[in-house]
Amino acid sequence: MTWAAIATWKMGALGAKISADILAKGGRASDAAVEGVSAVEDEPQFHSVGYGGRPDRTGHVVLDGGFMDGDTLHYGAVASIEGFRSPVRIARSLAPREANNFLCGKGAELYAEKNGFEKRDNLSEEAREIYEKERDRLKKLSAYDGHDTVCFLTLDESGSMCAAVSTSGLFMKDPGRVGDSPLCGSGYYADSETGAAAATGLGEEIIKGSLSFLAVFYMGHGYSAMEAAQKAVDELDEKLRRRNGKAEAMSLITLAKDGSWGVGTNVDFPFAFVSDTQELTLFLAAKKDGKTVIETI
Ligand code: ASP
Repeated sequence: MTWAAIATWKMGALGAKISADILAKGGRASDAAVEGVSAVEDEPQFHSVGYGGRPDRTGHVVLDGGFMDGDTLHYGAVASIEGFRSPVRIARSLAPREANNFLCGKGAELYAEKNGFEKRDNLSEEAREIYEKERDRLKKLSAYDGHDTVCFLTLDESGSMCAAVSTSGLFMKDPGRVGDSPLCGSGYYADSETGAAAATGLGEEIIKGSLSFLAVFYMGHGYSAMEAAQKAVDELDEKLRRRNGKAEAMSLITLAKDGSWGVGTNVDFPFAFVSDTQELTLFLAAKKDGKTVIETI
Protein backbone atom coordinates (compact mmCIF):
# COMPACT_ATOMS: atom_id res chain seq x y z
CA MET A 1 0.00 0.00 0.00
CA THR A 2 1.43 3.39 -0.92
CA TRP A 3 -1.20 5.79 0.36
CA ALA A 4 -4.26 5.64 2.61
CA ALA A 5 -6.82 7.77 4.46
CA ILE A 6 -9.27 6.90 7.22
CA ALA A 7 -11.95 9.27 8.51
CA THR A 8 -14.58 9.24 11.26
CA TRP A 9 -18.35 9.08 10.67
CA LYS A 10 -20.32 9.07 7.44
CA MET A 11 -19.45 12.74 6.99
CA GLY A 12 -15.80 11.66 6.70
CA ALA A 13 -16.58 10.01 3.35
CA LEU A 14 -17.20 13.41 1.75
CA GLY A 15 -13.74 14.64 2.71
CA ALA A 16 -12.08 11.27 2.06
CA LYS A 17 -12.84 11.65 -1.66
CA ILE A 18 -10.83 14.85 -1.66
CA SER A 19 -8.02 13.29 0.37
CA ALA A 20 -7.88 10.35 -2.04
CA ASP A 21 -7.57 12.68 -5.06
CA ILE A 22 -4.65 14.46 -3.43
CA LEU A 23 -2.89 11.28 -2.31
CA ALA A 24 -3.40 9.45 -5.61
CA LYS A 25 -1.60 12.29 -7.39
CA GLY A 26 1.38 11.96 -5.07
CA GLY A 27 0.24 14.81 -2.79
CA ARG A 28 1.21 15.24 0.84
CA ALA A 29 -0.43 13.55 3.81
CA SER A 30 -0.84 16.93 5.52
CA ASP A 31 -2.66 18.49 2.54
CA ALA A 32 -4.87 15.42 2.21
CA ALA A 33 -5.87 15.47 5.88
CA VAL A 34 -6.51 19.21 6.07
CA GLU A 35 -8.44 19.41 2.79
CA GLY A 36 -10.54 16.41 3.85
CA VAL A 37 -11.44 17.94 7.21
CA SER A 38 -11.98 21.36 5.73
CA ALA A 39 -14.49 20.06 3.17
CA VAL A 40 -16.57 18.76 6.09
CA GLU A 41 -16.21 22.09 7.93
CA ASP A 42 -17.86 23.78 4.93
CA GLU A 43 -20.87 21.44 4.74
CA PRO A 44 -23.96 22.73 6.58
CA GLN A 45 -25.60 19.29 6.56
CA PHE A 46 -23.09 18.09 9.19
CA HIS A 47 -24.20 19.39 12.55
CA SER A 48 -21.13 19.00 14.68
CA VAL A 49 -18.35 20.59 12.61
CA GLY A 50 -17.73 24.06 11.15
CA TYR A 51 -20.65 25.84 9.50
CA GLY A 52 -23.90 24.42 10.88
CA GLY A 53 -22.12 23.16 14.02
CA ARG A 54 -24.18 23.13 17.19
CA PRO A 55 -24.01 26.11 19.57
CA ASP A 56 -23.00 26.17 23.21
CA ARG A 57 -25.44 27.07 26.00
CA THR A 58 -25.16 30.75 25.14
CA GLY A 59 -25.99 30.24 21.46
CA HIS A 60 -22.46 30.67 20.14
CA VAL A 61 -20.85 28.20 17.73
CA VAL A 62 -17.34 27.88 19.14
CA LEU A 63 -15.05 25.39 17.47
CA ASP A 64 -12.00 23.24 18.22
CA GLY A 65 -9.41 21.93 15.76
CA GLY A 66 -6.13 20.05 15.85
CA PHE A 67 -3.35 19.02 13.47
CA MET A 68 -0.22 16.89 13.83
CA ASP A 69 2.58 16.29 11.34
CA GLY A 70 3.85 12.75 11.90
CA ASP A 71 7.30 13.48 10.42
CA THR A 72 8.25 16.28 12.78
CA LEU A 73 5.75 15.64 15.62
CA HIS A 74 4.82 19.30 15.26
CA TYR A 75 1.27 19.92 16.35
CA GLY A 76 -1.02 22.93 16.29
CA ALA A 77 -4.45 23.44 17.82
CA VAL A 78 -7.18 25.96 18.48
CA ALA A 79 -9.95 25.70 21.03
CA SER A 80 -13.13 27.72 21.66
CA ILE A 81 -12.61 29.79 18.53
CA GLU A 82 -15.58 31.66 17.07
CA GLY A 83 -16.19 33.38 13.76
CA PHE A 84 -13.67 31.65 11.48
CA ARG A 85 -14.24 29.31 8.56
CA SER A 86 -11.67 26.61 9.18
CA PRO A 87 -10.27 25.76 12.62
CA VAL A 88 -8.20 22.95 11.09
CA ARG A 89 -6.36 25.34 8.75
CA ILE A 90 -5.60 27.67 11.63
CA ALA A 91 -4.39 24.70 13.72
CA ARG A 92 -2.11 23.57 10.91
CA SER A 93 -0.55 27.01 10.58
CA LEU A 94 0.37 26.93 14.29
CA ALA A 95 2.21 23.61 14.04
CA PRO A 96 5.63 24.70 12.73
CA ARG A 97 6.06 27.37 15.44
CA GLU A 98 8.59 26.73 18.18
CA ALA A 99 6.08 27.69 20.86
CA ASN A 100 2.52 29.02 21.13
CA ASN A 101 1.21 26.02 19.19
CA PHE A 102 -2.13 25.74 20.99
CA LEU A 103 -4.25 28.89 21.22
CA CYS A 104 -7.72 29.27 22.66
CA GLY A 105 -10.58 31.74 22.73
CA LYS A 106 -9.77 35.39 22.13
CA GLY A 107 -6.07 34.64 21.59
CA ALA A 108 -6.84 32.15 18.84
CA GLU A 109 -9.22 34.64 17.20
CA LEU A 110 -6.62 37.45 17.35
CA TYR A 111 -4.06 35.14 15.77
CA ALA A 112 -6.46 34.04 13.03
CA GLU A 113 -7.45 37.59 12.23
CA LYS A 114 -3.86 38.82 12.16
CA ASN A 115 -2.87 36.01 9.83
CA GLY A 116 -5.71 36.59 7.39
CA PHE A 117 -7.79 33.46 7.99
CA GLU A 118 -11.24 33.66 6.46
CA LYS A 119 -14.00 34.76 8.79
CA ARG A 120 -17.44 33.17 8.86
CA ASP A 121 -20.46 33.21 11.15
CA ASN A 122 -20.89 29.45 11.63
CA LEU A 123 -24.38 29.66 13.14
CA SER A 124 -26.72 28.29 10.47
CA GLU A 125 -30.43 29.04 10.55
CA GLU A 126 -31.17 25.39 11.32
CA ALA A 127 -28.69 25.31 14.23
CA ARG A 128 -30.22 28.51 15.63
CA GLU A 129 -33.72 27.03 15.50
CA ILE A 130 -32.62 23.85 17.24
CA TYR A 131 -30.80 25.84 19.88
CA GLU A 132 -33.88 27.94 20.58
CA LYS A 133 -36.01 24.83 20.97
CA GLU A 134 -33.57 23.15 23.36
CA ARG A 135 -32.32 26.13 25.31
CA ASP A 136 -34.77 25.98 28.17
CA ARG A 137 -34.56 22.27 28.64
CA LEU A 138 -31.93 21.42 31.18
CA LYS A 139 -29.88 18.84 29.38
CA LYS A 140 -27.40 16.41 30.77
CA LEU A 141 -24.35 16.16 28.55
CA SER A 142 -24.70 12.85 26.85
CA ALA A 143 -22.50 11.21 24.27
CA TYR A 144 -23.81 11.40 20.70
CA ASP A 145 -26.44 13.93 21.66
CA GLY A 146 -25.58 16.46 18.98
CA HIS A 147 -21.84 16.08 18.60
CA ASP A 148 -19.26 14.17 16.60
CA THR A 149 -15.79 15.08 15.44
CA VAL A 150 -14.43 14.74 11.95
CA CYS A 151 -10.99 13.15 12.22
CA PHE A 152 -8.66 12.28 9.34
CA LEU A 153 -5.53 10.12 9.39
CA THR A 154 -3.48 10.05 6.20
CA LEU A 155 -0.42 8.30 4.80
CA ASP A 156 1.24 9.50 1.59
CA GLU A 157 3.52 7.82 -0.94
CA SER A 158 6.63 9.16 0.76
CA GLY A 159 5.61 7.53 4.07
CA SER A 160 4.58 10.77 5.80
CA MET A 161 1.60 10.57 8.12
CA CYS A 162 -0.75 13.20 9.48
CA ALA A 163 -3.73 13.60 11.83
CA ALA A 164 -6.27 16.43 11.60
CA VAL A 165 -9.55 17.01 13.44
CA SER A 166 -12.36 19.58 13.74
CA THR A 167 -15.50 19.80 15.88
CA SER A 168 -18.06 22.05 17.53
CA GLY A 169 -17.83 19.75 20.57
CA LEU A 170 -20.88 19.04 22.67
CA PHE A 171 -24.19 20.66 21.81
CA MET A 172 -25.18 22.95 24.68
CA LYS A 173 -21.72 22.73 26.20
CA ASP A 174 -20.85 25.22 28.89
CA PRO A 175 -19.12 28.30 27.50
CA GLY A 176 -15.37 27.62 27.52
CA ARG A 177 -15.76 23.83 27.64
CA VAL A 178 -13.07 22.06 25.62
CA GLY A 179 -13.08 18.34 24.93
CA ASP A 180 -10.41 15.95 23.72
CA SER A 181 -10.41 17.04 20.07
CA PRO A 182 -7.81 19.85 20.14
CA LEU A 183 -5.67 18.04 22.75
CA CYS A 184 -2.69 16.37 21.14
CA GLY A 185 -2.44 12.85 22.55
CA SER A 186 -6.12 12.62 23.44
CA GLY A 187 -8.00 13.72 20.30
CA TYR A 188 -5.25 12.89 17.79
CA TYR A 189 -1.63 11.82 17.47
CA ALA A 190 0.64 11.04 14.50
CA ASP A 191 4.12 9.60 14.27
CA SER A 192 5.25 8.60 10.76
CA GLU A 193 7.67 6.05 12.23
CA THR A 194 4.75 4.18 13.81
CA GLY A 195 1.24 5.28 12.95
CA ALA A 196 -1.54 7.70 13.76
CA ALA A 197 -4.76 7.70 15.79
CA ALA A 198 -7.74 10.00 16.40
CA ALA A 199 -10.77 9.86 18.65
CA THR A 200 -14.42 10.84 18.70
CA GLY A 201 -17.00 10.48 21.44
CA LEU A 202 -17.36 12.09 24.83
CA GLY A 203 -14.16 14.10 25.22
CA GLU A 204 -14.32 14.02 29.01
CA GLU A 205 -13.93 10.21 28.85
CA ILE A 206 -11.35 10.11 26.03
CA ILE A 207 -9.06 12.51 27.89
CA LYS A 208 -9.00 10.15 30.90
CA GLY A 209 -7.14 7.60 28.78
CA SER A 210 -5.11 9.85 26.43
CA LEU A 211 -6.55 7.46 23.87
CA SER A 212 -4.83 8.58 20.68
CA PHE A 213 -1.32 8.59 22.07
CA LEU A 214 -1.97 5.28 23.79
CA ALA A 215 -2.98 3.59 20.52
CA VAL A 216 0.12 4.91 18.72
CA PHE A 217 2.23 3.74 21.67
CA TYR A 218 0.74 0.26 21.34
CA MET A 219 1.45 0.25 17.58
CA GLY A 220 5.05 1.11 18.43
CA HIS A 221 5.17 -1.89 20.75
CA GLY A 222 4.20 -4.55 18.25
CA TYR A 223 0.41 -4.32 18.13
CA SER A 224 -1.33 -4.04 14.75
CA ALA A 225 -3.45 -0.97 14.01
CA MET A 226 -6.58 -3.01 14.76
CA GLU A 227 -5.25 -4.51 17.99
CA ALA A 228 -3.97 -1.13 19.19
CA ALA A 229 -7.30 0.68 18.58
CA GLN A 230 -9.34 -2.01 20.31
CA LYS A 231 -6.91 -2.48 23.19
CA ALA A 232 -6.86 1.27 23.91
CA VAL A 233 -10.67 1.65 23.85
CA ASP A 234 -11.50 -1.65 25.56
CA GLU A 235 -9.05 -1.08 28.41
CA LEU A 236 -10.34 2.42 29.11
CA ASP A 237 -13.95 1.30 28.78
CA GLU A 238 -13.34 -1.51 31.28
CA LYS A 239 -11.48 0.76 33.69
CA LEU A 240 -14.20 3.42 33.65
CA ARG A 241 -16.96 0.86 34.19
CA ARG A 242 -15.03 -0.70 37.08
CA ARG A 243 -14.28 2.64 38.74
CA ASN A 244 -17.39 4.67 37.92
CA GLY A 245 -20.02 2.10 37.01
CA LYS A 246 -20.29 3.35 33.42
CA ALA A 247 -18.33 4.45 30.40
CA GLU A 248 -19.64 6.96 27.87
CA ALA A 249 -19.21 6.59 24.12
CA MET A 250 -15.70 6.49 22.68
CA SER A 251 -14.46 5.55 19.20
CA LEU A 252 -10.93 5.52 17.87
CA ILE A 253 -9.47 5.17 14.36
CA THR A 254 -5.88 4.12 13.74
CA LEU A 255 -3.61 3.95 10.70
CA ALA A 256 -0.26 2.16 10.81
CA LYS A 257 2.75 3.26 8.77
CA ASP A 258 2.15 0.33 6.36
CA GLY A 259 -1.37 1.61 5.62
CA SER A 260 -3.21 -1.02 7.65
CA TRP A 261 -6.03 0.43 9.72
CA GLY A 262 -7.97 -0.26 12.88
CA VAL A 263 -11.02 0.82 14.85
CA GLY A 264 -11.94 0.49 18.50
CA THR A 265 -15.35 1.56 19.80
CA ASN A 266 -17.92 0.97 22.51
CA VAL A 267 -20.86 2.22 20.36
CA ASP A 268 -22.05 1.87 16.76
CA PHE A 269 -19.55 3.85 14.77
CA PRO A 270 -19.41 4.45 10.99
CA PHE A 271 -16.13 5.43 9.33
CA ALA A 272 -14.61 5.69 5.86
CA PHE A 273 -11.41 4.22 4.46
CA VAL A 274 -9.69 4.63 1.08
CA SER A 275 -6.27 3.66 -0.25
CA ASP A 276 -4.46 2.91 -3.50
CA THR A 277 -5.70 -0.68 -3.21
CA GLN A 278 -9.16 -0.12 -1.68
CA GLU A 279 -11.85 2.10 -3.15
CA LEU A 280 -13.59 4.50 -0.80
CA THR A 281 -15.67 2.32 1.54
CA LEU A 282 -17.97 3.12 4.43
CA PHE A 283 -17.82 0.70 7.33
CA LEU A 284 -19.81 0.29 10.51
CA ALA A 285 -18.03 -0.87 13.65
CA ALA A 286 -20.16 -2.11 16.55
CA LYS A 287 -19.66 -3.91 19.81
CA LYS A 288 -21.38 -7.32 19.87
CA ASP A 289 -20.97 -9.73 22.80
CA GLY A 290 -17.85 -7.90 23.90
CA LYS A 291 -16.25 -8.10 20.43
CA THR A 292 -15.78 -5.36 17.85
CA VAL A 293 -17.55 -6.36 14.65
CA ILE A 294 -16.88 -4.39 11.46
CA GLU A 295 -18.99 -4.59 8.33
CA THR A 296 -19.32 -2.56 5.15
CA ILE A 297 -22.34 -0.27 4.89
N1 ASP B 1 -14.89 14.44 21.19
C1 ASP B 1 -15.70 15.60 20.94
C2 ASP B 1 -15.77 16.44 22.16
O1 ASP B 1 -15.89 15.91 23.25
C3 ASP B 1 -17.09 15.28 20.48
C4 ASP B 1 -17.22 14.08 19.58
O2 ASP B 1 -16.28 13.66 18.95
O3 ASP B 1 -18.32 13.52 19.48
O4 ASP B 1 -15.75 17.64 22.05
